[in-house]
Amino acid sequence: MSSGAGAPRKPRFPMALDRLSQAGAPSKPRETLRPQRPLHEAARDAARQTVSQGLGLDSAQVRQRMVQRLRADGIRCEPVLAAMGDVPRHLFVDSALATQAYEDTSLPIGHGQTISKPSVVARMVELLFEGALARASGHLGRTLEVGTGCGYQAALLAKLAPRVVSIERLRPLFEKAGAHLAAWRLDHVRLLHGDGMLGHGPDAPYDSIIAAAGGDALPALWLDQLAIGGRLVAPTRGPGGRGQVLVVVDRHASGCVRSEHEAVHFVPLKSGIG
Ligand code: SAH
Repeated sequence: MSSGAGAPRKPRFPMALDRLSQAGAPSKPRETLRPQRPLHEAARDAARQTVSQGLGLDSAQVRQRMVQRLRADGIRCEPVLAAMGDVPRHLFVDSALATQAYEDTSLPIGHGQTISKPSVVARMVELLFEGALARASGHLGRTLEVGTGCGYQAALLAKLAPRVVSIERLRPLFEKAGAHLAAWRLDHVRLLHGDGMLGHGPDAPYDSIIAAAGGDALPALWLDQLAIGGRLVAPTRGPGGRGQVLVVVDRHASGCVRSEHEAVHFVPLKSGIG
């Protein structure tokens, strides 16, 4: 799983299999991305009930419009765009917020947390796909997600990886994500209730690691559990201690190479379980 060469292999995991092709070219830098936002803003926008456009939320066309906006926003990775077009985001949020599910906005998922906005999710998964192993194999390989939340990003990862381990520290959200994903019977996805700062040693090493919450520094165990040739994408405190940026770490046989990307604003990575 963690190595591959030449043309993308035929993936062995379900959903959107025919759409996996090659990772897109890196896109241009953008302004600060805010995947989370104050709950009162989300509630205010919910009251506006802006999007229905005459299409039912189950319509693939609604998601395709979101995909068109992601393309216009610079997302180039076709497997990621295909997955975003497939996963019904409206089923992961409360029904009162479902009409906003395909706008580029974060939405509350309870317990003070939010589902990240689609453009940020797409950008982070695109960065993962630009890692060496994903480029070589055409998929994300063995993948660890920290911060399951409502399970939306885990569902996306399930389309792009043969094995997904996702950890959530808040039990009600862990249970909510399980309920959301149950309908698809994703045998290759494992949800865990625990402290994702510790990673998950039994399934390591991971070809891809992605975090949906940002800390002051990358936990050492994440780097320990990253496979050689693997890539990690996580929001982390920016240079000089200011704000947050997306950090990418590529692990090579000779050591880790770190690069910093867009400014972002994620909920805090917290230790322990709640
Ligand atoms: N990917 C999610 C986004 C959820 S927001 C989605 O698609 O909905 C980030 C999540 O990270 C929150 O649910 C928060 O509880 C969780 N989190 C924060 N610190 C964590 C930790 N140490 N371990 C596991 N989850 C954590």
